[in-house]
Amino acid sequence: MLKLFNSLSRKIEEFVPLNPPKVGVYACGPTVYDFAHIGNLRSFVMYDILRRVLEADGYEVTFVENITDIDDKIIKKAKEKNLDMAEFTKQYTEYFLEDLNKLNIKLPDVQPKATEHISLMVKYIEVLLDKGLAYAEKDGSVYFDISKFPDYGKLSGVEKRELKTGTRVLSDEYTKENIQDFALWKGVEADEFGWDSPWGKGRPGWHIECSVMSQKYLGDTLDIHAGGIDLMFPHHENEIAQSEGKTGKLFAKFFVHGEHLLVDAQKMSKSLNNFYTLKDIEEKGLPALPCRQAGGRQGFDALAYRFVKW
Ligand SMILES: [Zn+2]
Repeated sequence: MLKLFNSLSRKIEEFVPLNPPKVGVYACGPTVYDFAHIGNLRSFVMYDILRRVLEADGYEVTFVENITDIDDKIIKKAKEKNLDMAEFTKQYTEYFLEDLNKLNIKLPDVQPKATEHISLMVKYIEVLLDKGLAYAEKDGSVYFDISKFPDYGKLSGVEKRELKTGTRVLSDEYTKENIQDFALWKGVEADEFGWDSPWGKGRPGWHIECSVMSQKYLGDTLDIHAGGIDLMFPHHENEIAQSEGKTGKLFAKFFVHGEHLLVDAQKMSKSLNNFYTLKDIEEKGLPALPCRQAGGRQGFDALAYRFVKW
């Protein structure tokens, strides 16, 4: 019997799929604007272990993991480097797949790209508007109205009473202090990168892509939704609001989260500049894991990272 810690109930529960022996797993994939660091990769090792355990238990797993190939950071960096966006994201997608290969992580059964699902996202947002769960602003942006979704906060435990009524947030990433209506569609200026939509030129918010692509490939209710713990709020909370708001059904039976990789008791992150890539490990090793090898080589095989006790 497989038991998993379900972030929804905050309890260890027996895993029972909706339609055994089939199991649908959706995991939030990389935003391809830079090299992944080993803190990011920890999540992907976790997904792989989860998937292999399910397969070893005899389940027929469909594992879907998206590629976020459109967001603020991508647009900014591609512009800085004067590169075509598709060209820019293709390069980092390839680096990411190389990292997965080095860590012996199986490729997803489906690896959908956000930019290939824009028309579906537009249709999805139209349903949310029709249901009165979203509203369009004059600037061409569309927001989800969290006051219309009574269960908002059920995953992360944020309290809606702290909602700043009538306020909204355009950025995809924000903190628990900012419990506001979030962008489903971001209106852009005519000379900015975007797609035509019923609300004018724009591009999708980050959260909507995961609702749309997970449900397209796995149906309205997923057996397991996986991700890093930092995605619980706002990303997964917003995915629940969009998905359950649209279908009226449970979005995922299990939410499984991986913890942060810590460096000197702090989260490994690009913003803190305390990160290592797999290449760093191969060339220099890790300060916390002194490695003495023949010939004085400091680095070690990237695959060894998979077996490090976290
Ligand atoms: Zn996601």
